[in-house]
Amino acid sequence: MRIDLHTHSVVSDGTESPAQVMTAAARAELDVVALTDHDTVDGLAEAGAAANDLGLEFVPGIEVSCSHRGISIHLLSYWHDPADAEVAAMLAKTRDARVNRAQQIVDKISVDYPVTWDQVVARAGGATTIGRPHIADALVDHGVVPTRDAAFQQILAGHSRYYVPHYAPEVTAAVRTMRRAGGVPVFAHPGADARGRVVPTSVIESMAEAGLVGLEVDHRDHSPEQRTRLARIGERLGLVRTGASDYHGTGKLNRLGENLTTPEAYAALKSARASAAPGC
Ligand code: AMP
Ligand code: ZN
Ligand code: FE
Ligand code: FE
Repeated sequence: MRIDLHTHSVVSDGTESPAQVMTAAARAELDVVALTDHDTVDGLAEAGAAANDLGLEFVPGIEVSCSHRGISIHLLSYWHDPADAEVAAMLAKTRDARVNRAQQIVDKISVDYPVTWDQVVARAGGATTIGRPHIADALVDHGVVPTRDAAFQQILAGHSRYYVPHYAPEVTAAVRTMRRAGGVPVFAHPGADARGRVVPTSVIESMAEAGLVGLEVDHRDHSPEQRTRLARIGERLGLVRTGASDYHGTGKLNRLGENLTTPEAYAALKSARASAAPGC
């Protein structure tokens, strides 16, 4: 069983439609695949239908932007009720903040480079959630940088002078909100320090108390040492160890199935779903 629980489509900042991501998943010989677009569930219906046609087991998911004392954190969640009003309000607030923030970043960059807000909006196409990768695409169009990756190494990096953060909910609150909505929350790439500051272990402990179910230990942004450290923390706290690709189509180097979740871990996520008491 090949299980990949972290992928993105054009509904956020991937480069393929939800159905195309599922076709790519079948080609990568996955058996189980989740779509986890940033701060939106708009791609899930299309992906679910395509997965069904392809004979893939589909896991409806999301990657929720969160924060803790100014540190940006990503929280994966699976199977939550997409109609849940509290979740919808939380995500809408973040998406609105993202638009403002992207405009501010573009304002700053446009002082030094040829890029306009209209071009970024055009590059984002029908995306529900706008992000730095769309700004990267506009910069690539202008020949400022050759790829999204190059843009993230300098102009769009977290330490860049053009960087602007955006509002996101406190991570423990988001864990509770997703759990109340029937979701199974998993901390995405908790030790990915190359992309910015990571939270101390005490925050993982608070998240576990709030209802966190898993830690995405096996992710390309983690060194072998980080995987060992995170696996130990997860064992101590009774968290499920997951692994995934964080596929973004051609927008990132990540390949589908490059990291996987074991069938045992997947079963543990499913049983956490079954035991999620409404109103917990
Ligand atoms: P934002 O959500 O607007 O802060 O932008 C961060 C997003 O950009 C994350 O979802 C990453 O997947 C994506 N990203 C980060 N680094 C890179 C990179 N080197 N190349 C392409 N996309 C990236
Ligand atoms: Zn992304
Ligand atoms: Fe992420
Ligand atoms: Fe992701």
